[in-house]
Amino acid sequence: MLLYTARMSTTKAIIHLDNLRYNIQVIRNIVGENVKICLPIKANAYGHGAVEIARAAVQAGVSAFAVATVEEACTVRRAGITAPMLLFVPPARESVADIITCNLEPFVFNAEFIDTLSAAATSAQKKVSVHLKIDTGLHRLGCPPDTAYALAKKIIHAPFLHLKGIASHFVSSESNDDESRALSKQQLDIFTRTVAHIKAADISPDILHMANSGGTIQYPQAHFDMVRPGLLVYGYAPSLAVAQRIDVRPVMELVTQIVDIKKISSGEGVSYNHVWKAKQDTYIATLPIGYADGLFRLFSQPLTPADNLSVRIHGKDYPIVGRICMDQCMVNLGSTLHVQRWDTVTLFGGSGQSAQDMANRAHTCSYEILCAVDSRVMRTYSS
Ligand SMILES: *Cc1c(COP(=O)(O)O)cnc(C)c1O
Repeated sequence: MLLYTARMSTTKAIIHLDNLRYNIQVIRNIVGENVKICLPIKANAYGHGAVEIARAAVQAGVSAFAVATVEEACTVRRAGITAPMLLFVPPARESVADIITCNLEPFVFNAEFIDTLSAAATSAQKKVSVHLKIDTGLHRLGCPPDTAYALAKKIIHAPFLHLKGIASHFVSSESNDDESRALSKQQLDIFTRTVAHIKAADISPDILHMANSGGTIQYPQAHFDMVRPGLLVYGYAPSLAVAQRIDVRPVMELVTQIVDIKKISSGEGVSYNHVWKAKQDTYIATLPIGYADGLFRLFSQPLTPADNLSVRIHGKDYPIVGRICMDQCMVNLGSTLHVQRWDTVTLFGGSGQSAQDMANRAHTCSYEILCAVDSRVMRTYSS
């Protein structure tokens, strides 16, 4: 059978695994030797490629992973990654058996899910480790604190369930204002009091965990036995407020190449609907990257003109002009030409702007910029 595969692509995400290892070491230095690091690799490892990130992270001392869906877990398990893997979000009821097949450790927080899981584990005759998730204020997933004890008891009485962890999740651990700090401390307080109540009844989970990136940086008392930093490992601070306190390096560099250059005359328009027109004769480069790749169309329809996005070519910034299309966009090279076809263009990372800079322009967070890089963009890995 003939297999059709592209050898190389113009638009690619270069994943700098050396930076990934560096960031993991930064976190290791913060939490010390005795705290485990669980790396969330949900959403294809925040767009970086879950399998390759997991492989490199295991080498760098990460001891557990976390995903949001069973499908994400399957991809990583198929690649031979055997480390403990948390499942943050409950699957469809039809997929509960896959939790056992894939050897996942789900967050549990209600009696129904515990019963379903217990029945599936019993029929498979396989022990399933679970983490009891307590809702300390986010009001997303988790049990009310006053039901945690009863659920913990239910878990330890299920013959094929193991209470491996008790966990919670912060609301705004990345923020530094008084209100956020007070809320984080209140969440920590609710968590430790609820855990104490459970432990007083001689129920002892193996591990406690609560800290995401913000919690890892700001609340050492939230490190407990394991931390779950995602964004930090991928090289970004979760907020401007904590950025100065942490030195991490962006792992992803999004690049493309110029595929066409043309000269247009003053008054001529570029791209659909000619929303941009040249004020003088100028050179226009076409880049094979568009909104289907994750380059939001919003960047070419900025909320304010200052939000207009530039790209970097040979260390110099050039603005995107005209509407960003599905697969392409255009940049204004100016009236004299300093670049040529096939030159490398950096969208973010590497020597270019950061995903955070782009996020600021799109009025979003770096998380969304990274996750938005579509699966059709080839990932290449540099060690
Ligand atoms: C995504 C996620 C994390 C990681 O969050 P970061 O802000 O990327 O560090 C940790 N815990 C849970 C439950 C999550 O959903």
